[in-house]
Amino acid sequence: MQEFQEKIASDYENWGQVLDIGECKDVIKEKIMSSDFNGDNSRLVFSVCSDDCNRLEIRENMEKSLTRIYGREFHLGGVAGYPIGGVSAIIAASHHVPDYHSAKTGQTTKGNLIFFISPHVGFIKKDVFLYGRLIRPGQQNPTACCGAMMGFLNELKRAGDVETFNIVPDHDNLDPTRILLHETLIKEYPSQLREILKIEDVNTQIIKLSILNYELISHKVTKMIDEFLRKEYEVFQGKIAIITGITINCISRDFFVLRSIKILKN
Ligand SMILES: [Zn+2]
Repeated sequence: MQEFQEKIASDYENWGQVLDIGECKDVIKEKIMSSDFNGDNSRLVFSVCSDDCNRLEIRENMEKSLTRIYGREFHLGGVAGYPIGGVSAIIAASHHVPDYHSAKTGQTTKGNLIFFISPHVGFIKKDVFLYGRLIRPGQQNPTACCGAMMGFLNELKRAGDVETFNIVPDHDNLDPTRILLHETLIKEYPSQLREILKIEDVNTQIIKLSILNYELISHKVTKMIDEFLRKEYEVFQGKIAIITGITINCISRDFFVLRSIKILKN
């Protein structure tokens, strides 16, 4: 797997630190535990794609690694990691943090929130390295990964331009996350999408799309957290850790391109 990790590091260049699950767990633990986040006083909030590959027991993945330390998570994300739960979900999660009794000080304090914000992209080697595909447990052939983003890219290529991209109506709200994802991409990121369309190398195109997916999700969640703090600043007494990056799904295990770890409300 070292070959995969080195290839990801060379493809993502200086965008983030490419870590395997064990390395990533150690970096996160060191950074946030030194700010007093632990499994007894914190609740996880994930803005990660609904895709089961991100949490299957049979694969080594970030979700499994983090939930082993910090307990199960509150789901904020839908397909492509779009934070469909919104500010209401963050407010709800903030009401679920455990109280924490410190034996050292004898004081009971309110717990913390740990956000994990990450789109994902599959990565396989079939003669050559291919991004955007994954051979899933129990299957023989690769499928799209992230399916929502790869589907969007195919529709964008068919349309030929952002202006001619057709967002298929959904009058009965049967596919709400897909509509929001497509609308946000088309309305808020037209110049980035045009640049992606111009790229001839398919792997480079998919890498750039995963970075755009990251920008969309991290920007939305950051705005939602700002709004949450504006509404609940006096009510929420805890701290907030925000871990961001891109999950790279390989056949049996994931890698994580760590972009940032921030601590708010210290
Ligand atoms: Zn996905």
